Amino acid sequence: MQKFSASIITIGDELLIGQVIDTNSAWMAQQLNRIGITVNRRIAVGDEWEAIWKALDQEIPAANIVLITGGLGPTADDITKPLLCDYFGGKMVQNEQVLQHVHYLFEKVYGRPMIERNANQAMVPDVCTVLHNANGTAPGMWFEKDNTIVVSLPGVPFEMKGLMLDEVIPALQKKFELPQIYHRTLLTAGIGESFLAERIAEYENALPKSIKLAYLPSYGMVRLRLSTIDLEAKGGAKEIDWQFLKLQSLLTDVIVTNKDEPLEAVVANLLLEQQKTIGTAESCTGGYIAQLFTAMPGSSRYFKGGVISYANEVKHDILQVAEETLETAGAVSEDTVIQMVKGALAALKTDFALATSGIMGPDGGTPEKPVGTVWVAVGNQDEIITQKFKFRFDRRRNIDLTALNAMNLCRKFILDQTQSTKS
Ligand code: ATP
Repeated sequence: MQKFSASIITIGDELLIGQVIDTNSAWMAQQLNRIGITVNRRIAVGDEWEAIWKALDQEIPAANIVLITGGLGPTADDITKPLLCDYFGGKMVQNEQVLQHVHYLFEKVYGRPMIERNANQAMVPDVCTVLHNANGTAPGMWFEKDNTIVVSLPGVPFEMKGLMLDEVIPALQKKFELPQIYHRTLLTAGIGESFLAERIAEYENALPKSIKLAYLPSYGMVRLRLSTIDLEAKGGAKEIDWQFLKLQSLLTDVIVTNKDEPLEAVVANLLLEQQKTIGTAESCTGGYIAQLFTAMPGSSRYFKGGVISYANEVKHDILQVAEETLETAGAVSEDTVIQMVKGALAALKTDFALATSGIMGPDGGTPEKPVGTVWVAVGNQDEIITQKFKFRFDRRRNIDLTALNAMNLCRKFILDQTQSTKS
């Protein structure tokens, strides 16, 4: 079986100046990887004829599949379509199905009149296969040259995703006999990347060549990913499962999860297993932890609500934090976060509550409590635990780190509570 490689070209000046973050190519790479296609290169180019042409010249000989997004709209800066028509030596023709679809969208979905410019979306090169874009007016286009497939898709993420899932992925799977790519991922906490590497050095050295181990550190946690590509359908899954078990047995004390999932999903699953609920009392994270919970589908089964107690009055009035504590110990203190947990448990009537209070910067620090000082507390009716952190980054990263560490403390607390009720 052959190994298939892809290149992704994203088009748009807005990507080059950083006004829009290129999320398309990351998502497309994941989808290709899922079906056994290895992405070798991702390139961003501006809305410029020569640059796009050159990128095609460069990528077509180097890949089996080239995916392009962007520049398909009806405005003058959208040059991808005429360029591809020229590049593949075709001429523009009107496509009846696309025209009908554009009419339908304007009449029935958008409810506004269609102008000539919109009808032009139905003009396509006669050397491509048109792919139906159910979510927009710009169709996808499938070209083939020198055994390479080139697919052009709209830049709007929602439209691109629909086309990829409905048209491109099924067509690639039909056309090629694709190998399987397997990944196994585990998340560790409380151990740095280099210590981790030391600890599993022997294991890593003994790994078969077909299996790659990647370290993906972020915010005090390290994700370890094993990958293999099964070209011959020779039991790659079995081998990687076996190696993954071995890896887990070496790291039992630091594993957070052996699935590729975020920390909040781990906490959510613990709560679901125990049929318990949680609420938040957030000062410095401003509702971000509540957002992390509620971004997951089904969160209403365990997440009841949160209080964004940013101002001292709210800490006092809603969460009953004593004025004296706020005056003497201060808002960023162990006493305050303990009282915030108690207040949240009472106000939200949850089994667990989580509280954060800290100085995120750039201002607000003092010699005793510099920027980055954070107190976190988590508890239930029987017990409350706390932890103090000292982060040293900018506001955004300090908030991320607080949320992540608060989640991890919460995970440990719920686990400890389960173990103590079991024993
Ligand atoms: P349209 O028909 O809406 O003009 P298009 O194919 O011409 O679509 P662009 O004009 O290049 O696409 O981009 C439309 C919008 O899609 C951009 O404003 C941007 O918000 C988003 N977008 C484009 N490319 C990307 C990308 N690589 N990653 C994330 N978002 C993108």
